[in-house]
Amino acid sequence: MGHACGHNLIAAAGVGAAVGLAACFDEEWGRIIVLGTPAEEGGGGKIRLINQGLFEGLDVALMFHPDAETQLVKRALAMVALDVSFHGQAAHAAASPHEGRNALDAVIMSFNNINALRQQIRSDARIHGIITHGGEVPNIIPHFAAARFMVRALDNTYLEQLLTKVINCFKAAAQASHTRLELKQDELRYDSFKPNYRLVELFRQNLKSVGLLEHPGSELANLGSSDIGNVSQLLPSLHANIAICPANLSIHTPLFAEAAASDMGQARMLLAAKALALTAIDLFCDHEYLRELKQEFGSGNI
Ligand SMILES: [Zn+2]
Ligand SMILES: [Zn+2]
Repeated sequence: MGHACGHNLIAAAGVGAAVGLAACFDEEWGRIIVLGTPAEEGGGGKIRLINQGLFEGLDVALMFHPDAETQLVKRALAMVALDVSFHGQAAHAAASPHEGRNALDAVIMSFNNINALRQQIRSDARIHGIITHGGEVPNIIPHFAAARFMVRALDNTYLEQLLTKVINCFKAAAQASHTRLELKQDELRYDSFKPNYRLVELFRQNLKSVGLLEHPGSELANLGSSDIGNVSQLLPSLHANIAICPANLSIHTPLFAEAAASDMGQARMLLAAKALALTAIDLFCDHEYLRELKQEFGSGNI
């Protein structure tokens, strides 16, 4: 549906900030590196780049993300995706059901077990899934069934605890249905977002100086997962969400894709680019602030 997450504007603002900086840059200040980071969602682009060492030696990472509402800090949920499948025994569903072991029942029980677990989990956690294979025909007991789940939480530690409980739901379903469980965790695991409020404060002031003064929304509203979470656990990171359209729209819709190519979208992207460049200048010029910011990062744990 086009740029329904506005990543065209992320790219333009990153390049724009670097071009602006280059115009006044003194090489003795340090280095600016522009990293293109595709596949933010699902593809774990930044996670792959981290694994390849592209973030090594950097002091801070700065970017903005278009949105329908400005949230200078928007937390992101740690997330792991799971492919779960059950292997049973096919049998005629009317003539010899007693010879079958029903893999679809295991999937259905997994959903029911997780729904029971849901009442006892923290309100910031999410567990959601779909059935990807439910059998072939209704008169054969399904010997194979599969589902894909995502488990999310506001911090990495709770995600780990929750994951153990979710896996127990699958194990219990396998035991009850006499099927064999096969479990595959996606190796690209998304970390939670660790905010850096000193970076946010610089960016907020710079946004104000270029004429964008908004009342930022709550940092806990409308949370998803993003690979910037992994970057934010590695080094101080800014990932400010800036409204590029009226607040009644939402991302991942055709209307937002239109907004990402609109005059307002372009104008907001330029303001974001300027504020990013100014924030970088502040950091290059105030070594003490940068030192404190890095020190604070080292001691914080989210
Ligand atoms: Zn998105
Ligand atoms: Zn996005």
